[in-house]
Amino acid sequence: MSNTIQAKEINGIKIDPLIFTFKFSCQCNGECCYYGVYVDSKEHQDILNIKDKIIPIMDDSQITDIDKWFEAPVEDKDFASGIAVGTELHNNKCVFLDKAGLCTLQKLALNEHEHKWKYKPLYCMLFPLTIFEGSLTIDDGHIDRLKVCNKNPVQAISIYEACQEELLQLFGPDGFAELEEYRKQYLNNENSREVA
Ligand code: SF4
Ligand code: SF4
Repeated sequence: MSNTIQAKEINGIKIDPLIFTFKFSCQCNGECCYYGVYVDSKEHQDILNIKDKIIPIMDDSQITDIDKWFEAPVEDKDFASGIAVGTELHNNKCVFLDKAGLCTLQKLALNEHEHKWKYKPLYCMLFPLTIFEGSLTIDDGHIDRLKVCNKNPVQAISIYEACQEELLQLFGPDGFAELEEYRKQYLNNENSREVA
């Protein structure tokens, strides 16, 4: 009997099974935001549309000139519209990161008693996971270049376990249940290989 397992795709996104075994511990205050993020062009427009709510809650470490918030658009097939726009850096951090280490987009949502990710770009919500070339996988390139992120994991849990809320948000309840089923199959298969 073969010990191979079928590749899995949920909601059009392929699943890299490494997420089920890679150990991760989130333990700092937003170092991942020091480099900015790529957002979909629709998210870019959505953020500009609420600039009048964002600007008043920025602090003096941030820049309120909206022309300094984003880089030029680039083509990228991993974004729904096919166009990605990078956030600029100011004071060596994403323009939306305040001096307390809070994302202003998340702060705005919380101030409005909305879901904390209402205004947050998808890739910010997902990190340390990412979608690369159509696959949900680990953003190990970004993790590696950060000084603190996951350098001394205090908990021996997988990135899948560490990011349950994010995965539920990404796939919805049905997709998340499918992902959990795939995880069980994958780990059972790995265990049976080890004892074979
Ligand atoms: S994902 Fe990494 S860099 Fe971001 S807050 Fe968690 S430990 Fe820090
Ligand atoms: S938009 Fe917010 S969460 Fe995303 S990188 Fe900037 S500060 Fe961090």
